[in-house]
Formats: sequence, C-alpha cells, structure tokens
Amino acid sequence: MISERLQDVRQRIAEAAARSGRSENNIKLLAASKTVSVDRIRQAISSGQMLFGENYVQEARKKIESLGDLKAGTVWHFIGHLQRNKARTAIRLFDCIESLDSLRLAAAIDRHAQAAGKKMPVFVEVNVAEEASKSGIPPEQLRSFLQEVAALQAVEVCGLMTMPPWDSEPEASRPWFRILRQLKDEMNDIFSGQLRLEELSMGMSADFEIAIEEGATVVRIGTALFGNRPEKNLASSLS
Ligand SMILES: *Cc1c(COP(=O)(O)O)cnc(C)c1O
Repeated sequence: MISERLQDVRQRIAEAAARSGRSENNIKLLAASKTVSVDRIRQAISSGQMLFGENYVQEARKKIESLGDLKAGTVWHFIGHLQRNKARTAIRLFDCIESLDSLRLAAAIDRHAQAAGKKMPVFVEVNVAEEASKSGIPPEQLRSFLQEVAALQAVEVCGLMTMPPWDSEPEASRPWFRILRQLKDEMNDIFSGQLRLEELSMGMSADFEIAIEEGATVVRIGTALFGNRPEKNLASSLS
C-alpha cells in the first residue's frame, strides 16, 4: 500500500533528521513517479503526498493533465534530462526544473519563461564525480556557470541537485553529498547578494538517510514508495 510506504518513508526521514539535529520540516519528500500510473499517483495524493518528480515531459504531461481536480495543490519538479525543444512545455507543466545542466538549456528556459511572463525556479545539476555517462556541471565549472545563469532575467537558481555514482553500498554516497553541500556554501559566499542557493536535492531510495545527514533539503524517492519500476525499454517507451 502506498499510504503505508509513505508513512514508513516519512518516519525514516524524521529519524534521520533527528539524528543529525535537523528539523524534518526542512526536508521535502519528492515522490519520483516516472513509469508510475496516474492511478497510483492519485493514491499517493490521497495519502497527502503533494510533491512529485518526473523525468520525461510527454509522460508527465499526460499524467498531470489527467489528474483533474486532484492536481490542485500538487507541486511538480522536472528531474530528468531536459531537451531544449521541450523547454517550453516543461515550463508550463512544472514548478521547478531540478536538472539544469547546460547554458544552452538555461538560455532556452529563460527565453520561454520570459515569453510566458514567468520566473522559472531551477536547481543546477552537478556531476559531482564527473562521470562521462551523466549530465550535470562539473564542480570546477559551477562558479562560471552560475555567473552566467545569474544574469538571466527569468531563471531563478534556488539550489543544487546531484546523483552520485551508483554503488551497492549506500554509505559510498556520503562524500559526494558532502561535496554538494560544500559547493552550495562556497557559491553562496561567492555570490552573496547576487543569488542564494537554499536547496540541496540529493538522496534516493537507497541513500536518502545519508543525504539528510549531509544536509539534503529535497530527497527524491521512487522505489521505496512505488516499488520496482519496469525494465528500462518500457520506461523509455512512455516518454
Ligand atoms: C528515478 C529517479 C529517482 C528515484 O530513484 P529510486 O532509487 O527509485 O528512489 C531519483 N532521482 C532521479 C533523477 C531519478 O531519475
């Protein structure tokens, strides 16, 4: 049951927060709902879950639009790799884009957000381990990247997001989470008055408690709430 899983995850968030002397109110649970049916999303909403993350624009559009009245009060973050030709739709559908990973995408978001008369909240995705297989800004380029993005009128940078290298041992994520936290502090010093990073989106089903201990303000959780996802080829056919 989704309601029980939600309760369990919320409990674990509260415990990790308490362990690290933090308030659970400063940690948002984002339900990563890629491949999850509208029906099950409805169940999650009925159990009080309001924040969702989706990876594919087309899949998200279908799901969000078929929620009807249940959509009221829900908040949607885009957490996948965003193609520039989908930026306009993404701005319309989502409340935040957590996966800003290039200047060209930033420019596209800025242009479409201006046209829509809206300021688009974004997180910058950081490729903490500089993995070739992942998108995101390498840590040593973050400063110059933020410098450029801060100049865009309709893009509001409010945090950093990362996905550390996969490891069967969740504890292996800790140093990467710590690096993201340090980057946030450094950037806030450098850009004080110009921009302010408040959010750290890090931690998934396997390692969210460690992420909370290291300062996460958003944890993105799929499997622990919705169970295992179908095979990847099926997932991509939904996009
Ligand atoms: C799918 C996904 C998650 C959730 O992963 P789980 O291990 O199922 O909790 C988190 N973040 C991103 C970017 C994802 O694509």
